[in-house]
Parts: sequence; C-alpha cells; structure tokens
Amino acid sequence: MIVKVLTFISTLLLVICYPYLPKRQMLLHPNEQNTYAIAVDSEVGGQSKFIWINQQDMFWDCEINQGAAYPYCGLSLLWSQDLHKTIDFSAYSHLSLTLDYQGPTPYFRVFIRDDYPSDKYTNALKRAKFNNITIRARQGEQQVSIPLTELSVAEWWFNDFAVPLENRRPSVKNTIALGIDIPYPVILGEHKFRLSRIELVGSYFSKEIMYISILVFWGTLLILEMLLAYLNMQVRLRDGKQQLSELAATSAKYKEQAETDKLTGILNRSGLSEIISQLESSQLLQQYALLIIDVDHFKDVNDTYGHAEGDRILAAIARTISMCTRSYDVIARWGGEEFVVLMHCFKASSILPFADKIRLKIANTPPLNGVTVSIGATQLLKSSIFNESFELADKALYQAKSSGRNKVVVL
Ligand code: GH3
Ligand code: MG
Ligand code: MG
Repeated sequence: MIVKVLTFISTLLLVICYPYLPKRQMLLHPNEQNTYAIAVDSEVGGQSKFIWINQQDMFWDCEINQGAAYPYCGLSLLWSQDLHKTIDFSAYSHLSLTLDYQGPTPYFRVFIRDDYPSDKYTNALKRAKFNNITIRARQGEQQVSIPLTELSVAEWWFNDFAVPLENRRPSVKNTIALGIDIPYPVILGEHKFRLSRIELVGSYFSKEIMYISILVFWGTLLILEMLLAYLNMQVRLRDGKQQLSELAATSAKYKEQAETDKLTGILNRSGLSEIISQLESSQLLQQYALLIIDVDHFKDVNDTYGHAEGDRILAAIARTISMCTRSYDVIARWGGEEFVVLMHCFKASSILPFADKIRLKIANTPPLNGVTVSIGATQLLKSSIFNESFELADKALYQAKSSGRNKVVVL
C-alpha cells in the first residue's frame, strides 16, 4: 500500500514537474561549421542591397529599395557549404532565436529549409521545402521562442514544385538551412539584424509519451495486482477445500467409530438407528425382517470361562452371523449379548429358514463352546413403526426362550 502511495506521488510529481525537467538542447549558431547564403533582389535586377556591418558578429543590413517586382533581402545559415549536412529538428519542440533588430518592419520571417528531392533544380537550397513563420519584430535585442508546430509551408513553394498533397505539411527532419528575411509586403528601408544565438530546445520525452507511459505503467500495475489477488484467492480456495475435505474425512472417521461396536466390529445401536431412519425415509424398511438374537445363558458362559473368553465368544458369534448374512442385510450389536439382524426379504416364509440357519451355525461352531442363541423374528410392515415391530420380535424371542432356548420363533 505504502509503495503504491509513493508511486502515485512520484507520478503526480512527474506530471507537475514536467515543464521544469532538464531540456534537450542543440546549438545551431554560433557554430564554426556554418556558412551562409545571401538572397537579395539585385540578383534579379532589383535595387536592394545586402551589406555586412560585421560579418564576424553576423550583423548585417538589408537595404530594401524600390526596383524589383517583389523586393527581397535576407540571409540563410547553411549547415555546410555543399548542403550535404542535414540536421533533424523533429526531436525538438522549439527554436530559440536571440537577435537584435533595428528597422521599420513590424514583422520579419524565419524560414527553415528542409531537403526536398526534385528534378527541377540541382541546387538543394533552391528546391528545399520552405517551412516558415512570421515573427513580430521589436526594436533592439529580443529572444524569440518559435514552436516548430507553428511552422507552415509557403504556398509559392508547393505551387512551384507541384508538390503532391501528402508532402505539403511542414517537415524538419532533414534541414539544410535556416534563414531570416522580411516578409511580403516588404517595408522599404534599412533593416539591421544582428543574430547572436540560435538553439533548438525540446524535452527528452514528449508529454504524450509521458502520459502513455503513465497509463501503461498503472494499467500493468493494476492488472498485475488483480492477477496476484486472483492467484492468492485460488490458493486460499484450494487450501480451504483441502481443509474441508480433511475435516470431512475426520468427521466421517469419528462417525464410523461412533457407530461401530468396538468388541465385534459390527454396527452398534446408534449405527443401526441411523440405518433404520435412512431405510424409513426411503420407505425401504418394509422390505426387511427383524431378527433379535440373544445368547442363551450367557451369564453362565461368563461365569464358566471368564469375562475375557465371554468377549471372544461374542466377537465369534458376530462373525458367524456375518457369514450367514448377505451384503444387503444389516447386522448390529444391540447391547450386551443381544444382536439384531435386518434381513432383506420379500416373503415372510423365508424368515424362519434364514434365522434357523444362523441359530444352527452358531450352535455347531466348535470354538463357541456349545453356545446357543434364541431368535425372535418378525416381518417389518409398512403400516407399523419400528418400535412396534421390535416389541413383536422381542415377544417372539421371549417365547423362544421360554420354550426351551436354542429356538427360533417368528411372529
Ligand atoms: P438368557 O438365556 O435368559 O438370555 O440368560 P442370560 O444369562 O444370557 O441372560 P442375562 O440377561 O441374565 O445375562 C446376560 C449376561 O451377558 C450378563 C452379562 O454379564 C453378560 N454380558 C453382557 N455384555 C457383555 C460383554 O460385553 N462381555 C461379556 N463377556 N459379557 C457380557
Ligand atoms: Mg439378553
Ligand atoms: Mg441371554
């Protein structure tokens, strides 16, 4: 968060301080490599004169006189004598001129000649694109800052060269010269110029680039942040799911433990109740018969062989009952030496043989020391609730006991 605030403040500072950031600069004049070209109407029969007052100081006098149809007088600075040297202005935003002017014109003209390929003239200066701007002239020394975007191309130039539309925009990529003269309509008289400094000024990066960079930076930052938050959420979700499934496994384990009888490994009474309520709710209970199996004279067994042996016998009886039942029957230890079987059956007539099979199997299993069981059974009916059926089976068990034990009674 703190990093974000600091980054935001830095962004804000960058935007606010943009105009005060160090500038990209290029000195065009004075420069020893520069040379010059004079243009005056005397070359076309006019009466104007170009006079150097002090050539070293670039101090000249344009005496413009009546004579030519369009009197003119001006000076161009060339980057090289043969005009092969070009200077790219396009990385700069302003042209800064320091000059001293004395004379009658309210405006002078600054022009930048950009190399232009044309067959019309072999002289590169003659055919070069004429980007120009008119500047308000003040008497005495002045510093002018010209935005390069304000340049326009002189109409005579693109008429003269029949320039296609796409080339009529100002261009300063391959400049070969920069000049100063008096624009039309010229004011006759003496125009004295002393040119002391010409400089290109620009930013190291444009405002547009700065805003786009800020936008891209913050956009990337936000997307990254969102991505991170998403990944974080996924990880937490996965961890949560894992914890939940571990919890579910643990609770299933405890549930199983709570529903299992430790001694025999079969269901205990609460496990059985759970299954009964499931069968009740799915209306499948009436497909079962209820068998209550009670060990005969188990008290005596305990007394004779000891409690530990009694435990072992109870576990063996549970195993024997399991062996006699099918996967879709349910066996549970009801408590003490009593077991319950939910026998899946559709016919009441099959209860007796099934129960008798269990009884006989227990009676005839040698390791059980001749222990026998009595079984009371009944069909579970749709109309009856489980407790009523249980009472009926218990009654049947009582009858089996009272009629001599090691018996099955079905009611
Ligand atoms: P009946 O034929 O009438 O059923 O006689 P019984 O002795 O089996 O019946 P009674 O209800 O009098 O005695 C049940 C005995 O079962 C008493 C008790 O000590 C024994 N018993 C109950 N639970 C366990 C157990 O977990 N382990 C052992 N070893 N004995 C148990
Ligand atoms: Mg009993
Ligand atoms: Mg008993």
